[in-house]
Amino acid sequence: MQIKTPTSALLEQSLGIIRNKDTRPVRFRNHLRKIGRYLIYEASKNFELENSTVQTPLETAVIQKMKHQVVIISVLRAALPMVDAIFEEFDDASLGVASASRGEMLDSAGTKFKIESDYMKIPDVSNKIVVFVDPMLATASTISYLLKDIKKQNPVKIVLISAIAAQFGIDVIEEKFPEVEIYCAAVDDILNDHGYIVPGLGDAGDRACNTPHM
Ligand code: URA
Repeated sequence: MQIKTPTSALLEQSLGIIRNKDTRPVRFRNHLRKIGRYLIYEASKNFELENSTVQTPLETAVIQKMKHQVVIISVLRAALPMVDAIFEEFDDASLGVASASRGEMLDSAGTKFKIESDYMKIPDVSNKIVVFVDPMLATASTISYLLKDIKKQNPVKIVLISAIAAQFGIDVIEEKFPEVEIYCAAVDDILNDHGYIVPGLGDAGDRACNTPHM
């Protein structure tokens, strides 16, 4: 498994803003979008290219284009801002959408949840690059739930884009889906007994959608 936590002044600045509990929803979404853009740029450095040609107004130019199409998977609702930015970056990407919310806690430590999904529309991913977007990789329950079926279609690559990942979730992915490449802005050590990342940023969906204490 590859885990990348790229650093840059801009990425760190955005991370500080989304972690701050006083950041208002508009700014929170804006910086989640920026983080999505920085991270997909990093991930795309490992996307295969192939030569092609285009006609410029003057001559034929040899160009490089992406060899595989991208399918972005948006997990409702927290992923919306990051997906908004990432979808913009690809001319030919398709978008798959799945709702996922935590149901019953399956252990007392807050590390396993039953995932409830009422809606799922995911296009064919065979021979494509899957970009799975979840701003908070906490217990990895959601991605595990969705990836087991997606994997069966043999995508060429699976990339997970998260703003903040808990070491616990990274370890789960490493064990269950070692082929997944994870790109995140920060790795936090603690997962509390409600399954929240500490220090983290709180509930990403509530903060993005301005629905505190839902
Ligand atoms: N989902 C969130 O929004 N925040 C966490 O800390 C964990 C999961």
